[in-house]
Amino acid sequence: RSTVNVAVLGATGSIGTSTAEVIAHLNQIDPENGWRLWAASGHSNLEVLEELVGRAARDGAAPQRVILSDPSVISPQAAAERFGTFGIQVDGLRFGAEQLVDAARDPQVDVVVAAIVGRAGLESTVAAVQAGKRVALANKETLVVAGGLVSEQAANSGGQLLPVDSEHSAIWQCIADSPSPARRLILTASGGPFRSASAAEMRDATPEDALAHPTWQMGRKISIDSATMMNKALEIIEARWLFDVSADQIEVMIHPQSIIHSMVEFQDGSVLAQLSPPDMRLPIQYALTHPRRLACPAPPLDRRQSWDLSLEPADLERFPALTLGFEVARVGGTAGAVVNAANEVAVGLFLSGEIRFTDIVPLCQKTLENHTFEQRPCLARLLELDHWARQEARRCAERL
Ligand code: NDP
Ligand code: MG
Repeated sequence: RSTVNVAVLGATGSIGTSTAEVIAHLNQIDPENGWRLWAASGHSNLEVLEELVGRAARDGAAPQRVILSDPSVISPQAAAERFGTFGIQVDGLRFGAEQLVDAARDPQVDVVVAAIVGRAGLESTVAAVQAGKRVALANKETLVVAGGLVSEQAANSGGQLLPVDSEHSAIWQCIADSPSPARRLILTASGGPFRSASAAEMRDATPEDALAHPTWQMGRKISIDSATMMNKALEIIEARWLFDVSADQIEVMIHPQSIIHSMVEFQDGSVLAQLSPPDMRLPIQYALTHPRRLACPAPPLDRRQSWDLSLEPADLERFPALTLGFEVARVGGTAGAVVNAANEVAVGLFLSGEIRFTDIVPLCQKTLENHTFEQRPCLARLLELDHWARQEARRCAERL
């Protein structure tokens, strides 16, 4: 058995901890490969990182690298006290964002799981792609900010971008090796906690209301994105780049049960769908083992119960984020970086009680309108604009 070394960047998050579970499971059941958590990064959650590292050590191999991405958030001293006992080599404990990049391109790493939330995941994901790695991509923001550049780099380096996002995994599985291209990609959306809420109810929504997702357990940022449907907007843009389709080929339908994870329509009108319970361990595992399918810790759909599968068109009026997502996917260039940055700021302002839920999407629209569009920006320009858009979104928020 050869060993697959996996670097999980954002290991302490919702996707990261599920990934660690999948790696431990694969290590038990895969007849072909041993699986190893080679690197794990955390940002603020020392407890969870300690738990992950301890578990890997008990399973026979502590990670070679444990990375804390910001030494001003967790001090090297605090970390050294916690990790000293796990047999981590002296240089195995590392600090700072550049260490994420370093791990992403380390020659010993076979697969990078990009599970950091937001623009903070960009540099390490880009580094992994440039180094020609297999990248299991959860961090959709990277493609929203720099989809054109990242796709180009992947084509040049031979790096693979494999979707972890359940919708994109579903589409990938439906397309499989079809020699005929898909005519339409149909992303499903649960509709989130405000699927049937009125505009007035959404206006008064608290962070607690917005974080209560009906079908998925996820990190805070993506949970708010699901409530505004900005998550689907980001996924439209993600699909545009991952599958190299135009915005006109992408559609969204509401499917409250989150069992049909997305669909693909072919030229003859035939539609294929991928179904499974709402559990991220399946798409994570598939991105790791593709093209092989192995037993998964996620339970299969229960056939002793009746399945209620409903699909309805999305309401663009109550969820203006969708229109914004289609627009950004259509124009490309600098639009994604600006909207993503504005959204990250707006989500933070909403969570801290500074703006209303219904201000989030208008702030993104306003920031987009106020920027000077460029069709072919370089990475440095995108990062500059990310910085600008954060300030601009804060400025617009103050004027609300
Ligand atoms: P979480 O908030 O649960 O986890 C985020 C991870 O990123 C944590 O490990 C966190 O560290 C780390 N992190 C936060 N800020 C920084 C920073 N500035 N620098 C470096 N690391 C940082 O998010 P999720 O796991 O829910 O989501 C991760 C990504 O996956 C997102 O892009 C999301 O859109 C995507 N995704 C998630 C899905 C889900 O089901 N959760 C589904 C599909 C996509 P710490 O906790 O230690 O602070
Ligand atoms: Mg998704």
